[in-house]
Amino acid sequence: MKNHTGKIKLLELTFSELVSELKKRYGKGAHHAAILFREIYSNGNIDLGKSPEIVRWKKLYVQLCHDLKVNLNPVVDTIKENGLTKFVTRLKDSLEIESVIVPMATHNTLCVSSQVGCKMGCKFCETARLGFFRNLSVEEIIGQVFTAKFIFDVDIRNVVFMGMGEPLDNFDNVMQAILVMEDQRGFDISKRYISVSTAGLLDGIKKLAALNWPQINLALSLNAPNDQVRSQIMPINKVYSMDRLREVLMDFPLKKNGAVYIEYVLIKHVNDRQEHAYQLADYLKPLRAKLNLIPYNRRTDSLFEAPSEQDVSRFLSWLVEKKVFVRKRSTKGLGIRAGCGQLGNYALLNSSACPKTPLPPGGVGGGKGNLLISFTPTPTLPQREREKQSFRTGTK
Ligand code: SAH
Repeated sequence: MKNHTGKIKLLELTFSELVSELKKRYGKGAHHAAILFREIYSNGNIDLGKSPEIVRWKKLYVQLCHDLKVNLNPVVDTIKENGLTKFVTRLKDSLEIESVIVPMATHNTLCVSSQVGCKMGCKFCETARLGFFRNLSVEEIIGQVFTAKFIFDVDIRNVVFMGMGEPLDNFDNVMQAILVMEDQRGFDISKRYISVSTAGLLDGIKKLAALNWPQINLALSLNAPNDQVRSQIMPINKVYSMDRLREVLMDFPLKKNGAVYIEYVLIKHVNDRQEHAYQLADYLKPLRAKLNLIPYNRRTDSLFEAPSEQDVSRFLSWLVEKKVFVRKRSTKGLGIRAGCGQLGNYALLNSSACPKTPLPPGGVGGGKGNLLISFTPTPTLPQREREKQSFRTGTK
């Protein structure tokens, strides 16, 4: 990314990294870096030739044209509903990723992807159906913010890593992307407006804690009140139990009055009983946590049922009774499959451009990365019916 002779990937560098790169290569520094940053992050211009000021650098301009690389991938599809915009970006290798711009009362939030597909295999999640293709580069992550800001002309205040993929499974690129995003001369999106959501990769949470960034928001997708339920719907739980997760969360550095966010996707007949609410309240007791209750969005070929409004209110009231700090998250974007867990470009699987390693028999997650968990086969239809029953009755 940054070696002396290779290309400089501009969208992967913080301001100070660019300054030292320009110093090393051309004996230039902050002045030139500031102009390059302004062109990109304030003017949305990635074509240096369009800036008369940069063209006037003559010899340096010619060198930069050769050495700098800014690759912005095209948007190939845009779907809008209720002010919410989902856009699909086609990457260099023809894989596609999805991002969603969510307008809030006072600002806009961008939901970004961190991987193409995902290895986690959560049973309720659309992205999991894709299996895992590859990690996104820093440039591909930053490109999503650039596209929202300059192609869709939307001011982005918050960024949430809740799109496709498991951000802590692409740790280095996600952390570098956060540093680039928060650069005051760049997008200037402070860490307190950035959330990293994880299915519970324990080592990743520890690594994030070790960075000691108390401003960053960590969200854990817990989604279950106990290990038995969690292991049924999230294979990662067979590797890292809820108790171990909680220990690590208790050590996570938080800002004053800060909290860890716990996401709980409420799925009918799976994790929606009164005893579940009480177990969840007990689990959360030792933590400084805020709970987000997310009504399940049915994925394609779903094994599970979405809860009714009534189911959600009932579950909420049990939690409130136990004094849990809880909010219900809205289900915006369901119609365009842009709700939580609905990002997953299923057409990818049938695409001839798809370079993915074929799935191993009986499992998703057979891509190039380390396979963390063993997966159960995608069920056939009669088996699916049986599974539905066992979730209801709690038998296996
Ligand atoms: N891998 C990360 C980020 C992607 S999922 C993680 O697991 O946190 C983003 C959020 O969407 C998570 O909280 C997840 O639990 C939730 N989610 C996934 N599938 C969903 C579905 N079908 N309905 C509602 N929420 C879902």
